[in-house]
Amino acid sequence: MKSSKSETPLMRQYNQIKARYPGTVLLFRVGDFYETFADDAITISKELGITLTKRNNGGDQTPLAGFPHHSLDTYLPRLVKRGHRVAVCDQTEDPAEAKAAKKKIVDRDVTEVVTPGVTLNEKLLEHKQNNYAFAVHWSGSTAGVAFSDISTGEFALAQLDARELKSFLTLFAPAEILLSKKLKGNLPDGLDGYMLTYQEEWIFEHDYCYQLLLDHFQTHSLKGFGVEELTIAQVAAGALLHYIKENQKASLGHIRRIYAFENSHFMMLDASTKRNLELTASLQQGGTEGTLISILDETQTAMGARELRKWIMRPLKNLRDIRRRLDAVEALFKAHEIRNSLRDELEQIGDLERLISRISAGRANARDLTQLRLSLERILPVKMLLQKQESPLIVSLRDGLSGLIELQERIREAIVDDPPASLRDGGIIRESYSEELREIRDIARNGKRYIADIQKQLIQETGINSLKLGYNKVFGYYIEVTKVHQEKVPDTFIRKQTLVNAERYITPELKEIEEKVLSAEERMSTLEYELFNELRMQVSEYAEQIQQNAASIAAIDCLQSLAETAFLFNYVKPEVDDSTVIDIKGGRHPVVERSLPLGEPFIPNDIFLDTETEQLIIITGPNMAGKSIILRQTGLIVLMAQVGCFVPAQHARIGLVDKIFTRVGASDNLAAGESTFLVEMNEAANILNNATDKSLILLDEVGRGTSTFDGLSIAWSLAEYLHNQPSVAARTLFATHYHELNELESMYERVVNFNVQVKEHEGKVIFMRKLVKGGADHSYGIQVAGMAGLPKVVISRAQEILHNLEQHSLDITNKHGKLNELREGDEKLSSNGTASLPETGAAAAGTRKKAASSLSQKIPKQ
Ligand code: ADP
Repeated sequence: MKSSKSETPLMRQYNQIKARYPGTVLLFRVGDFYETFADDAITISKELGITLTKRNNGGDQTPLAGFPHHSLDTYLPRLVKRGHRVAVCDQTEDPAEAKAAKKKIVDRDVTEVVTPGVTLNEKLLEHKQNNYAFAVHWSGSTAGVAFSDISTGEFALAQLDARELKSFLTLFAPAEILLSKKLKGNLPDGLDGYMLTYQEEWIFEHDYCYQLLLDHFQTHSLKGFGVEELTIAQVAAGALLHYIKENQKASLGHIRRIYAFENSHFMMLDASTKRNLELTASLQQGGTEGTLISILDETQTAMGARELRKWIMRPLKNLRDIRRRLDAVEALFKAHEIRNSLRDELEQIGDLERLISRISAGRANARDLTQLRLSLERILPVKMLLQKQESPLIVSLRDGLSGLIELQERIREAIVDDPPASLRDGGIIRESYSEELREIRDIARNGKRYIADIQKQLIQETGINSLKLGYNKVFGYYIEVTKVHQEKVPDTFIRKQTLVNAERYITPELKEIEEKVLSAEERMSTLEYELFNELRMQVSEYAEQIQQNAASIAAIDCLQSLAETAFLFNYVKPEVDDSTVIDIKGGRHPVVERSLPLGEPFIPNDIFLDTETEQLIIITGPNMAGKSIILRQTGLIVLMAQVGCFVPAQHARIGLVDKIFTRVGASDNLAAGESTFLVEMNEAANILNNATDKSLILLDEVGRGTSTFDGLSIAWSLAEYLHNQPSVAARTLFATHYHELNELESMYERVVNFNVQVKEHEGKVIFMRKLVKGGADHSYGIQVAGMAGLPKVVISRAQEILHNLEQHSLDITNKHGKLNELREGDEKLSSNGTASLPETGAAAAGTRKKAASSLSQKIPKQ
């Protein structure tokens, strides 16, 4: 806002503060209101539906909008959810004191900046999800990344190939990403759709960032955290810490460590796999209904729920770790009673991570401390329940639990049983906790009687029987002694007033007592607030231990949740080894089996894949037969096994998988502005360029997005490539409606045909849902179309066309025959450089013109 000569002191103060917080909506406390001016006022009136008024600010007609201070809790989260950064500016001194000091204006300052990525506000946080702020810094082809959830104290960094950034970010769903201003207008790939916050360039300097980290952790290097070498990521971490400090304005004592997030420890799931396997978000509504997590989440605590999300998004790759989890789940799976009691105990444990964060940052109330105590009280019972467990993982988690009895005691001694939410009105601290508090309460309650006692005492001391205590507005309580007794008045009395027959005095003691009585109520709440803060600080000292407990509880909760779902849904413990096999007997889709209409059974299926013998399975069958369910359930079973979860099958043996790739149905997942076909080819290219012989590839209807001949040719050469290139010879399920691909089986050693069985009955197709050996000879597409209600004449005409086409079926198997013939006069696959399929894959693609003209000759006119 422009400053003007006639600017009021209030507006001058406002403008100064506003200038320090660019890019935020500044809520400026004036009396009982939060006010906004100019553009901020327009913003909040639009976002919150608050009336916009005008303020005559020295000739300027400045827009103004405000709301009562008690509505902050409602309006602030709304603004932040809409993607605004909101700075809250409060009065930082008592207005009465300011007035007494003859100041023109009360001191004000920003006490907190709340942003989508940096907040402790309960109303902005999902209790089952982490809320991450990220910072990214590039150096050459390396991306340095740091992320933190300040509501739990997690802080990590990683250095990765810049090309992996996009996939990395999808693991965490950042609420906000910090970047250097210099990138504005020239953004690297992979940042679309995130809330981006630009920071000054100087913040992204290594020296500054490194020092900031050392200062925060109070160490001489970052060696102790194992991140000393990650200099590019240190810049991101420092920039992030800078931002958090700037915004929170509070102690960040709960951020006690930083760790290197090692992406390579986890199975890689490409972005399309995460989406299409519907792990934590459903394809349709984006909610959690119909997702894997919705089935597996039987956690009882918020920490457990957040941890389970991490486990599911990050399946393990290390055999030992996987087995440790599986053994632990098995132990709890078998111990029904213990599991049930454990669930009851866990249910009573609050969100330790977020409680201690709020406590450390000074944003907790007495109820938070009580909640912390009640939660801590449940920890030893949990530990006891696990006492007899022998699974090494459970043993180590159990040993990480400590009830922090002395802390529980301290909180119990200090805080009343059912404290109020407000910290300012007293009634929080037990009387027995502080002698001073007990005295003050006593005075407040018994003020009058207290004064009478003093009177008695003074009479005794002076021997003046007529001595009286009185009160007036001018000098408060006084002692009145008649003139007759003047000589008995001790020196300590200070004369205040002379009357006809008497003198009035005060004493320092009396004034002290007077103050106690008169301000007892007020002093009581102030003292309680002080005592509370003292206690809060003491509790913060335990942050690390509480976080440790929280981490153990989270993992125990995950394990019992996995055991519980295994029990509820009849899952089995998978065998996981480093073989080249995936052998699933009676496999089911964990989500679909729970959502079929009543009475419709889920039909289990077997899958056997082996890199050495049956590497590539071609699955044919009509639409709706169940092909894609088989693909997805195989992906999910492998993923679940490596999460350490039991699986929906009769038996499963999983040879470790390093990455899962999926390329599913052409109709979904359209990135803005890209054609279906191009998206599909980009994904195919990604698979061929990144898969290894340890990967699992799920291809569904590749080539659907283009003409039949194009699509078939691409699908064919893709399959050949996956079979023939040793480096990408991954276990692959290839669902297709091109029966022609069945020919591959006879040409290539490790290709096997399967089809999802259907039967025809009186012209109708009956879906058997059973995967059987051999290729489908028939696509039943027309029958299915008939069942969908297409007019009879269209169906019979289609049958006629089909019949004619079948007379001229293609023969691709003859390597020098038909396919080559089709290639003459080809257009090359128009790839604008984004979909870079390997040479041999692309060569077979592109047959449109010629194919189309030959088709028209084969179909007789009606
Ligand atoms: P396709 O990929 O062959 O077109 P889908 O795999 O999408 O077919 O399956 C179509 C529908 O059939 C699914 O939505 C599901 O309701 C049902 N379905 C699939 N597999 C099974 C099964 N094994 N048991 C029961 N119902 C199934």
